[in-house]
Amino acid sequence: MSIGVEALFTSALGLQPPWVVEDVKLDTAQRHIDFEISCRGAALTCPVCGATAQPVHDRLRRSWRHLDFFQFEAWLHCDVPRIACGACGKTTQMPVPWARAGSGFTAAFEALALALCRELPVRQAAALLRCKDKQLWRRIEHYVEQARALEDFSGVQIIGIDETSLRRGQNYISVVHDLDAKRLLFATEGRDHQTVVDFAADLRAHGADPAEVRHVCMDMSAAYAKGVALALPEAQISYDRFHVVSMAIEAMDQVRRTEMAEDAAAVRQMLGGGERKTLRQLLWGMRRNPAGWSKGQLQAMHWLQRSTLKSARAWRLKMALREVYARARAHNNAEQAGADLRAWLSWARRCRLEPFKKLAATLKERFDAVVRGMTDHRSNAFVEAMNGLLQQAKRAARGFRTSANFIAIAYLRMSKLKHLPAHPFVSAPAK
Ligand SMILES: [Zn+2]
Repeated sequence: MSIGVEALFTSALGLQPPWVVEDVKLDTAQRHIDFEISCRGAALTCPVCGATAQPVHDRLRRSWRHLDFFQFEAWLHCDVPRIACGACGKTTQMPVPWARAGSGFTAAFEALALALCRELPVRQAAALLRCKDKQLWRRIEHYVEQARALEDFSGVQIIGIDETSLRRGQNYISVVHDLDAKRLLFATEGRDHQTVVDFAADLRAHGADPAEVRHVCMDMSAAYAKGVALALPEAQISYDRFHVVSMAIEAMDQVRRTEMAEDAAAVRQMLGGGERKTLRQLLWGMRRNPAGWSKGQLQAMHWLQRSTLKSARAWRLKMALREVYARARAHNNAEQAGADLRAWLSWARRCRLEPFKKLAATLKERFDAVVRGMTDHRSNAFVEAMNGLLQQAKRAARGFRTSANFIAIAYLRMSKLKHLPAHPFVSAPAK
């Protein structure tokens, strides 16, 4: 038994009457395959009011890009009827079953494009699909907005608030994660207290009660603290390891920079030649964990530890703070963690290094919230993982890095949105 090629493609495209494939044309030179689809019948159902047997007013020529057919670029073409309805009095174009209104791509092509944009930089996905980046960005925004509108945030209790910037020190974006569900809930421009207030409004718009948020993990920005006080009345704040250790690394860098600038001659004398290379290795060796030291960094760090430099003391303080966190993680005992932190603070206060004295004062002022963050493994690991994903999202938007694009791609990749189109080639896993 054989069926005609038109009937075969009518079925492969999933078309039902009145839609049928009338003609298929293969252009091997252009590597194109064109499907001519027609909507049969002189009288059709009105798409607005549902009145049957309404007359076709006219037909408008339209085309859609579809999934490739082998090595051929596939296009659907159709003279789409407009119905002049006697019942409701409106003249309306028939919606086509293979594409959403207004799109020049079929739904299957859009679904594939979205799937690729979750894995690849958008520019690369566009090159693979042989379309324009701009066409993909428009669709990412459309589908993300549609999917987010359907999301339910009720039950969100533990969140992380963080900032990221699109360019070094510019274009700040605040992001809010659900630390239980491990997903991005909200992203917006800016890093003032209003971002937290806007997040609370967004929570409410998605069926959640901001008063149910019990725990916020964040950095020590006063703006976020103000926002939390205003908009998340029941939330307790904790400061996670990532941010606290970053502050210690910043203090250490400050000590090193000042020392290398002010006592350059003394440092050079201690080093005795080859100083430029060693200083660079020192910079990275001091920031890195000893397990990751290169051979050169190892030598530089051995030299540092035998020296009497302030930088050596700063490095020991930083390492000791890491150790306080490692112990808290191993023992999971808030009391012990508090005692360890208190011992570190007293050392830092007496160390005669201005940046560490300042850091100690900051941590002391927020002592309880810091200790809460020490035994909170959930948020500590997660904040770092999310930072990695945010970096990937930035790379995905390379060349088109506007706040709107970055936020859209971050939602697409990090929000676990449940209402995105399914991947055309992968069926959903059985539940
Ligand atoms: Zn009608």
